[in-house]
Amino acid sequence: MLITDVDETLQRCVDYHGHFCAGQSLGVRIAKKGLELVAPEDLKDLIVFIENDRCIADAVLMATGTRLGRRNLKYADYGRMAATFINLKKDIAWRVSLIPGEKEKNDRPDAKEYVLTLPDEELLVWKKVKVTLKKEDLPGKPLRTVLCARCGEKVFDGKDATDPATGEGPLCRACMNGAYYEEAE
Ligand SMILES: [Zn+2]
Ligand SMILES: [Zn+2]
Repeated sequence: MLITDVDETLQRCVDYHGHFCAGQSLGVRIAKKGLELVAPEDLKDLIVFIENDRCIADAVLMATGTRLGRRNLKYADYGRMAATFINLKKDIAWRVSLIPGEKEKNDRPDAKEYVLTLPDEELLVWKKVKVTLKKEDLPGKPLRTVLCARCGEKVFDGKDATDPATGEGPLCRACMNGAYYEEAE
């Protein structure tokens, strides 16, 4: 599962994403490095955390073959240009980010072509990390499903909680912490 043909991979990313941008080039570079570092033999050994939901997120998912709906792509809402690659079988993880303070490289008008030409050492930082994954967060059949005691909706994968103040539970996160939406009249 290595990226051997950068041009072909980049083209698939561009087709999926809808335009050719620096995010596609950077995402392919980050994905290529991450796959080299953790070297999964099979997609089922791979989990990827992506740290933003901008252009590079599409490139990383296309270049690695991971998908949110397959549970092998995780979204960490950090707004950073980085991704972490986990090989479950080898129990190793590497986080790949861009060299800090090198913004001008990525902001050049020709950045989308330019960053493809740079050696890894001039573009990327990679660090070995440890990621603790809950078994409920791994791919496979849901291990736990409960009904929220307040809204009655089904809550998968241990995302429920019990209110420590009142003991009410199980509660979905929307009922527990407040939702991102309000009901409209
Ligand atoms: Zn883009
Ligand atoms: Zn609820």
